[in-house]
Amino acid sequence: MSVDNSERTQSLIHLAPPHRPDLRVAPRPRIDLGRAEAAARDLLDALGLDLDDATVADTPGRMARAFSELLTPRDFTLTTFPNDEGYDELVIARQIPFTSVCEHHMLPFTGVAAVGYLPGARILGLSKLARVVELFARRPQVQERLTTQVARWLDSHLSPRGVGVVMEAEHSCMTLRGVEAHGATTVTSALLGAVRSDPLTRGEFLSLAGRRG
Ligand code: ZN
Repeated sequence: MSVDNSERTQSLIHLAPPHRPDLRVAPRPRIDLGRAEAAARDLLDALGLDLDDATVADTPGRMARAFSELLTPRDFTLTTFPNDEGYDELVIARQIPFTSVCEHHMLPFTGVAAVGYLPGARILGLSKLARVVELFARRPQVQERLTTQVARWLDSHLSPRGVGVVMEAEHSCMTLRGVEAHGATTVTSALLGAVRSDPLTRGEFLSLAGRRG
């Protein structure tokens, strides 16, 4: 399937024809590695590093490539299947590890996500829940927005009867600097549809996600 990368958008999505319900997701962040490396050189120089020292001579390039990797989600295909068996209970993937970058300090935050949905007409390939987390984690973020984006994206692309996302992460900008709150974690949640409105489903999701209802 062709991928249009002419637009400046982080998530280009192509809808397959109805007989092939696969959705190709090909993020194309605009990253200029050469400029990033030059800027990293300036930044490190301004921070007092001696870049003539052989041991750090390649650090600007490594730094640029590391950030590029942290800010580029992998392509994937959102594979869905008809819910022929009429499965009507929650589907939840837990302990999905993720790494993102806080947009205020450009320092990483890492944690785990629980992502679940109450199926409608279609069900999803299970590994795709982790891919959707990565799709939104690998960009400058705040955890609240990341959580909401994962939930809304699943809601709009899968049309389930409900979606729940819980994320717990440790922010290095909070644990390594500032208040130096070592070990402190931040928990965020986004609940949509029946997972939000139906108390039993909500309680079941939060319990299965490892949170009290
Ligand atoms: Zn921060």
